[in-house]
Amino acid sequence: MEIAVIGTGYVGLVTGVCLSDLGNQVTCIDIDEEKVSTLKKGTSPIYEEGLPELLQKNIEKGHLNFTTDYKEGLVGKQVIYIAVGTPQGEDGSADLTFIHAACESIAKNLENDVIIVTKSTVPVGTNEQIKDTIQSYLTNEVTIKIASNPEFLRQGSAVHDTFHGDRIVIGSDDEQALEVLGKINADFHLPIVKTDLRSAEMIKYASNAFLATKISFINEMANLSEKIGANIDHVAKGMGMDKRIGSTFLNAGIGYGGSCFPKDTRAVISIGKQAAYDMPILENVVDANERQKGVIVDKILRRFDTVKEKTVAVLGLAFKPNTDDMREAPSISVIEKLLEEGASIKAYDPAASRNATTVLPTTINYAASIEEAVDGADIAIILTEWKGIKEFPFEKYEEHMAEPVLFDGRNCFPLEDVRNSGIEYHSIGRPSIYT
Ligand code: NAD
Repeated sequence: MEIAVIGTGYVGLVTGVCLSDLGNQVTCIDIDEEKVSTLKKGTSPIYEEGLPELLQKNIEKGHLNFTTDYKEGLVGKQVIYIAVGTPQGEDGSADLTFIHAACESIAKNLENDVIIVTKSTVPVGTNEQIKDTIQSYLTNEVTIKIASNPEFLRQGSAVHDTFHGDRIVIGSDDEQALEVLGKINADFHLPIVKTDLRSAEMIKYASNAFLATKISFINEMANLSEKIGANIDHVAKGMGMDKRIGSTFLNAGIGYGGSCFPKDTRAVISIGKQAAYDMPILENVVDANERQKGVIVDKILRRFDTVKEKTVAVLGLAFKPNTDDMREAPSISVIEKLLEEGASIKAYDPAASRNATTVLPTTINYAASIEEAVDGADIAIILTEWKGIKEFPFEKYEEHMAEPVLFDGRNCFPLEDVRNSGIEYHSIGRPSIYT
C-alpha cells in the first residue's frame, strides 16, 4: 500500500516506521525542516526503544522516506494518516490549528482519490470537519473518504505497543474505507474494533479519561492510607486481584503527566461543556492530579520545616521512564515549588535533560550521573522510575550524602528492601522508614 503520514512526532514517526516495516511504501511529511533532515540521515529525533534500528532498516530497504514537500510526499498515495499535534487550547479544549493547516496542505496538493485517516486525538465530530475542510480547499477533482484510527501507544514502549497493542480501533461511516484500513491493519495481527467515526473518536478520549481516573483514584487511596496507617502496596495488591478492577494502573505516585492524559482529560470536560453536560468525576480527577504533584514537597517541608539553603538532588525529570518527553512532567511543578521555597536543585535524567532545559528555570544545575546529583545533597527525591535510578544502590546515597534522606515519588522499592539500608525513606501511601 502507498501511504503518507503527516507529522513525524511520537505518533506519526512510529506509525510511519512500523507501517513501512510491514512492507508498505511510506512517505512521512513534516513542516519541521530540521527534524526531516535528521530523519533523512536515519537518525531518530526522539528517544524510543527499537525505533532507530527500524528507521534505518526501512530507509535502506527503500520503504521509507521523509520530506517537507506535500506535493512530492502525496504523489500516488492511497492512504494519508494525519498525526499532527492537538495541544490543549487556552480554554482546555483541543487546539486544532495544526490539524486545520495539515488539511489545507493536503487538499492543495492532492491529485488522486485517497482515504484520509486521523491518528491524532481529536474531539468527537472533528473527522467530519476534516472532510469539510479538505473538500473546501481541493484544487483537483478527487474523492476523499475519511476514517479515524486513534492511537493507543505509550511513549517509552511505542514500537512494542504498535506491534503488540491490545486492540486497533478503526472508525468510518464508509464501508470501503473500513475495508482498506482493515487490510492494512490485519498485518499487525491484533484484535480490530470496527465502528463508526464518532464512536472511534470517543473510544480514545474515554480510554484516556478512564486511565487518568484510575491513577487519581489510587493516589487518593494512597494519601488516605498514609493518614490511617495502611500500606497502599498491600491495598493495591488486594484490590487488583479482583478481575473486575485489574492490577495495572494502580501504582500510587505524584500524579500523571505527559502529552496525553492532562490535555485529553481537559478536552473531554470541554466536550462535555459544549454538549451542556457536566462531568464532575473528570473535573475532580484533574484537580486531584494537580494536588498530587504537591505531595512530595509537602512531605519534605513537614520533615525539614524549610529547604532554604538546602541542595535537593532530583532524580528523574521525564514524565515517565524510557522517554525524553518533558510535556506536563510533574517534575516541572515539583522543581518550581522547591525553588520558590529557596532550595538549590541538582537534577539528573538519563534522557530528558536537554528537553528539560527548555521548560525548567535556568537556575537549576544538571548532573551527568546519579552519583554527581546526590553528591553533597541534603535531600534526594525520585520523580521518574528509570531502571538506572531503581538500581542505584542505597549504600551510594550513604556514601555521597551526609545524611541520606530519600523521598520517592514513584514508590520504586518494596519497603522490605529499604529497611536496614541505612537511609531515611519517605514514599507515597506507605509508612516512612527512619534510620
Ligand atoms: P508531537 O508534537 O510529538 O508531533 C507532532 C508533529 O507534527 C511535529 O513533528 C510537528 O512538526 C508536525 N506538524 C505540525 N503541523 C504540521 C503540518 N501542518 N504538517 C506536517 N507536520 C506538522 O505529537 P505526538 O505526541 O506525536 O501526538 C500527535 C497526536 O497523537 C496528538 O493528537 C496526540 O494527542 C496523539 N497521541 C499521542 C500519543 C503520545 O504518546 N505522544 C499517544 C496517543 C495519541
